[in-house]
Amino acid sequence: MKREQLEPKTLQIYDTLNRRLMPVIASNGESYRIYCCGPTVYRDAHVGNLRTFMLSDLVRRTLEFANQKVTLIQNITDVGHMSEDFAEDKMLSQSKLENRDPFSIARDYESKFHQDLKAINVISADKYPRASECIEMMIQHIQALIDLDYAYVGADSSVYFSAAKFESYGELSGNRLDALKPGHRYQYSEDGAKRFHADWALWKAAGNRTQMVWQTPWGMGFPGWHIECSAMSLHYLNQHVDLHIGGIDLRFPHHENERAQSNPLVSNKEHSVEAVSLWLHGEHLLFEGRKMSKSAWNVVLVSDVIEKGFDPLALRFCFLENRYRGQMDLSWASISAAFSTLQRWREKYQQWRLSGSNQSALALSLVDEMYSDFCNDLDTPRAMLKLRALEKDDSFSDPEKAFVFEAVEKLFGLKLLNTLEKDLSPELADLLNQRITARANKDFKRSDEIRDELLAAGVEVRDSADGQIWKWLKI
Ligand code: AMP
Ligand code: ZN
Repeated sequence: MKREQLEPKTLQIYDTLNRRLMPVIASNGESYRIYCCGPTVYRDAHVGNLRTFMLSDLVRRTLEFANQKVTLIQNITDVGHMSEDFAEDKMLSQSKLENRDPFSIARDYESKFHQDLKAINVISADKYPRASECIEMMIQHIQALIDLDYAYVGADSSVYFSAAKFESYGELSGNRLDALKPGHRYQYSEDGAKRFHADWALWKAAGNRTQMVWQTPWGMGFPGWHIECSAMSLHYLNQHVDLHIGGIDLRFPHHENERAQSNPLVSNKEHSVEAVSLWLHGEHLLFEGRKMSKSAWNVVLVSDVIEKGFDPLALRFCFLENRYRGQMDLSWASISAAFSTLQRWREKYQQWRLSGSNQSALALSLVDEMYSDFCNDLDTPRAMLKLRALEKDDSFSDPEKAFVFEAVEKLFGLKLLNTLEKDLSPELADLLNQRITARANKDFKRSDEIRDELLAAGVEVRDSADGQIWKWLKI
């Protein structure tokens, strides 16, 4: 497809702060600056987490479809995320459990996280900053908040954000400050050192903690989870975020607090400025009726999906069939059905393209409609319906169908053009090349011999106007 033929459309998303559809805008006129909250790397990401991480990929693919530029930052939380039950750093709890250095655990799960993203064909972010390597910028951010009188050092040497100072606190989540009661889960637990019960720690004094602590002007300690994202997003995106993405549970307190921490740094005395233009939240994934979580004992990992013999892109298929803003229920039956359709479409594509690929006006207009669906608050289910309808639509010729699949691959990311999920071994790839040479030399005897050899190895070869096409015999 000739990319220059596509005019960029405006991507509209449902903004949590304004509670309505809003256009996504590149405020610097160059690149869309996007931040997506990343994983806390003390355990494997489950496929529910991946649904949320795929949200930033869908936004990116939509914007890039018409060649617009995106800068996406996703943090790696490897310190400071406290567990709600025990008020202990999740990394250190896991370190005790495994009797292993917390940083070594963090690096292992970080690398598994990248493998999982690859498995569902998520395009890499431009940078994955680790919280533990961004301590200096957090200290500077906290110091600036102290200087602006939004934060104070408590009697315990921890630094707290003064919630009541931020006038519009609660606007993002709807949790009004005067309705927040002491003792709620949003608090960092133990302290009598803060001035108001809804204040939260930006920096925690080390106390008797000895691991994952850093020296600061306020003594030894470690950062709060919320300040990590404020500091990293503003630092790496040059003081403004056009779109901030995360799961719905992050709306409060994580994003509410982040907004309070970030806005004062980009505002001036006269004007309050939003550091984040738009907030995008993805709804939760349920598995067989219940929210996927460790406590519900229904966690499914990418490795489980692979073990059952499914292509992990079947997960991507399922996520695309559901709007990000609604809860969705996943089951093994839906993964299996998605896998069958995916395989059938790949097979069909190989057949359609035998007679070429035709960029007709009809085909182009269907591509354009699907692009519009993505731009309309990521209405991926609607776009998926169009793909389903295309498969059976006789008003499209095979080459037109082939063209549509090729053109929308960048949008859906389902690898529909893959011959099969299995890669060819170097030996088989070499045989295919030898056959191309034999045919070029009009050595049809040798070409037929190679065809039979390939067939015996399970690879079927056909010749078309576009040259040699191969596929695995069993899909
Ligand atoms: P965590 O690693 O626990 O910090 O979570 C990473 C991301 O996954 C966050 O954006 C969460 O909001 C999101 N998340 C957690 N559970 C689910 C779920 N069941 N479905 C979708 N997203 C989730
Ligand atoms: Zn975050």
